[in-house]
Parts: sequence; structure tokens; C-alpha cells
Amino acid sequence: MIRIEAVNKWFDDFHVLKDIDLTVGAGEKVVVCGPSGSGKSTLIRCINRLESHEQGLIEVDGIELTDDNKRISEIRSEVGMVFQQFNLFPHLTVLENCTLGPIRARGLSKTDARALAMEFLEKVRIPEQADKYPSQLSGGQQQRVAIARSLCMRPKIMLFDEPTSALDPEMINEVLDVMTELAESGMTMLCVTHEMGFARRVADTMVFMDHGEIVEMASPETFFSTPKSDRCKDFLEKIL
Ligand code: ATP
Ligand code: MG
Repeated sequence: MIRIEAVNKWFDDFHVLKDIDLTVGAGEKVVVCGPSGSGKSTLIRCINRLESHEQGLIEVDGIELTDDNKRISEIRSEVGMVFQQFNLFPHLTVLENCTLGPIRARGLSKTDARALAMEFLEKVRIPEQADKYPSQLSGGQQQRVAIARSLCMRPKIMLFDEPTSALDPEMINEVLDVMTELAESGMTMLCVTHEMGFARRVADTMVFMDHGEIVEMASPETFFSTPKSDRCKDFLEKIL
């Protein structure tokens, strides 16, 4: 589904991604962790071309990511992304946030888009908030709207970049529960998160990044019980 081979990226002379190789198969869940500044967000942002890579290959569902704008929009239409900051449109209601994309980009009628949006707002358990504005919701509720909004575009892959790290502790689980259900429904997911309970539950593969490199890649069992590198051991000791 996602194929990343020998990807390198620089910000000016700063080498931010170093020879990254990673594949995420259909239905697979990959969790990426690592210290601040290690390149996790940059990597995930390269997959839908919010950042561009200078070397190597990124392929999503068989489409190679290049400068070609047509391909970029093809890939974006298959990939949903949820950020740390919820990035909802503040001047639109919850329902309108969810129907905008399907109406504009998918050509759905208003009625069909509303029905679809309500289906996903029910999945994330906030259908009763449909007519509110984002500012009237809690952080956890806003993040669940952001997930529902992404799902309304019927993505084949979901990317998450620390979706719970801006939330108050009591709201983290309501978002992780929604993500767990999504994982169990068979969605292909690449998640940057330090929520290791979630990672143990859903990940097929754990990835540890440091200084722009993938330092470890293993099943959760191996990753948590016998991390190989000192860098990974130190990191896990700090966060577990
Ligand atoms: P965090 O856990 O804090 O979110 P991260 O692993 O997601 O960190 P990135 O945001 O990918 O890290 O950043 C990796 C490195 O690249 C950092 O040193 C950062 O300062 C640098 N960087 C990120 N974006 C840019 C940019 N647009 N221009 C220059 N440097 C950047
Ligand atoms: Mg980041």
C-alpha cells in the first residue's frame, strides 16, 4: 500500500531523513515513535506530499509520488491525515466540516454527503454535536470530528501524527478508542504516537526513529521486550 525505498530528504543542509525504507501493506498498522526532532512528522508528511523528498521512492497504492500534480492529488484522495492540532475549519459546523470534501472533491449531493457524515459522526460517537462549531467542542471531540472528516473521504490509508498529544489526559482514551476501532475495521494505518498501550494493542510493526534514521523495526512483542539499540532502550525507559 505504502512503499518507501531509500528516501532521503534535506532541509537546506540539514539531512532530516536518511535512507528510509518502510512498507505498510494493505490492512497493516505501523506505529512510529522516537525522540522529538527525529523526523517522524517529516516522514509522514512526505507520504501525502506536504513535504517533498529529494531522493528515493515513495509509492502509494502503486502510484509513485513525483512532482506531477495529478499524481499528488490522486494520492491525496486515497490518504487521510489527522494531525496533532485538529485543523478543523472554525467557521463551519461539525457537519459542514465533514461534508465539504465529499461535496467538492467527490461530487456527492448535499443529502448524500450529510448521510455519510452522520454515519461517521456516529462511528466516532458524537452525532449529537453535528450542528455545533469546533470552538464549542472539547479537544477530544474536535479530534474525533477530524477523524470522521477524514473518513468521509473514504481513504484507503490513514496517517496519524501524534493525534492525542495536544489533548488533556482524560480525553486521550476517547480518541484512542476510535483509532483502535478503525484499526480493527481493517484500515491501513501509519501512526506516529507515543501511546504505547495503543501501540501494543494495534501495531503489526513498531518503528523507532532517531536523528532521521529508522533505528529499529520489529513486531511489538520483540520491540518492547528486547529492543536492540541503546538509543531505543533509553527512549522506551523514558516514556514507559
Ligand atoms: P516531534 O516529536 O517534536 O514532533 P519529529 O520527529 O516529528 O519531532 P520533525 O518535525 O519531522 O520531527 O522534524 C525533524 C527535524 O527537521 C527537526 O530538527 C526540525 O527542526 C527540522 N525541520 C522540520 N521542519 C522543518 C522545516 N520546514 N525547515 C527546516 N527544518 C525543519
Ligand atoms: Mg512531529
